[in-house]
Amino acid sequence: MRVYNFSAGPSALPEEVLKRAQDEMVEYPGAGMSVMEMSHRSKEYEAIINDAERLVRELMNVPDNYKVLFLQGGASSQFAMIPMNLCKNGKADYVITGQWAKKAASEAEKYLKVNRVASSADKTFSYIPKLDKSAFDPEADYFHITYNNTIYGTHYTELPDTGNVPLVADISSCVLAEKIDVSKFGLLYAGAQKNLGPAGVTLVIVRDDLIREDLPESVPTMFKYKIHADNGSMYNTPPTYAIYILKLVLEWVKEKGGVEELQKINEKKAAALYDYLDNSEMFKGTVVPEDRSLMNIPFVTGNDELDAEFVKKSKAAGLMNLKGHRTVGGMRASIYNAMTVEGVNALIDFMKKFESENK
Ligand SMILES: *Cc1c(COP(=O)(O)O)cnc(C)c1O
Repeated sequence: MRVYNFSAGPSALPEEVLKRAQDEMVEYPGAGMSVMEMSHRSKEYEAIINDAERLVRELMNVPDNYKVLFLQGGASSQFAMIPMNLCKNGKADYVITGQWAKKAASEAEKYLKVNRVASSADKTFSYIPKLDKSAFDPEADYFHITYNNTIYGTHYTELPDTGNVPLVADISSCVLAEKIDVSKFGLLYAGAQKNLGPAGVTLVIVRDDLIREDLPESVPTMFKYKIHADNGSMYNTPPTYAIYILKLVLEWVKEKGGVEELQKINEKKAAALYDYLDNSEMFKGTVVPEDRSLMNIPFVTGNDELDAEFVKKSKAAGLMNLKGHRTVGGMRASIYNAMTVEGVNALIDFMKKFESENK
């Protein structure tokens, strides 16, 4: 029996995608072999990676002056690759909204001067800080945000106006969950294992003018956007199978009606859970209402023992991976695109039952 998997990442994939992969696993139609066994230079594989790129462009409405890259090393490698490639004046602005933003900023600090524009560390990252434009550096090489904070469950409703400074965003946990206007950004990146596919592939969408040739000699070849852009993400062997699954997920998103339709479903799922949290006597959301994430919803009872009991009992009921991040405690439900409305309703029903049994 498949359980309801609320993991923050790697996370649930659409069952239809897994079944399709199962059907094609041993013998990919027309190829007589598994995608895992194919040359990445074969015509079958080229069709797969080209379809993946085409679908990213279509579903995310990527303008023509942006490259779509499939890289390795996770979102965490982008923490270094971004400053390595975008560093010109030697400084960048970062907003510190959680662990990932913190890590991105300290990694960037190895390559340039980091200006921490604002932080919500004072309240365990339970809100998105108000940004004061006078703290922005107009000479910064870029301005970095974590669009959706996976661990703390916060999300930007308003993007900072950075003028001519390129806005860079980590969209690992909100990509394809909601409409994102790519043209507002210089660069977007996402590890695949939340909303796109399996771990092992990282999506990077970067504006042409930010892909530079004149990088210092010390920048490793594999860390240059230029190399990957010039070679259609095939400078070396790409993560072939992960990209294939990503392609199946993109086809699934398209079948569902695209990002717009998924966003409507995501808004309904999140509203149902927040609504219950706001009315519950036992459970409370940890994030200020105006900055709540659609994808990651942390909540607590206020009693550590009761939290532990909830996690244990929910697991026994087939509601998996609801334990919160160790820095927040309590619970967290990650309800990415692949989490069904039924799954969210099952969670709410279970919470109601738990609440009535533990009054
Ligand atoms: C999961 C996550 C990361 C880390 O991704 P890796 O692919 O494991 O490096 C970075 N940023 C955000 C917002 C995440 O959710």
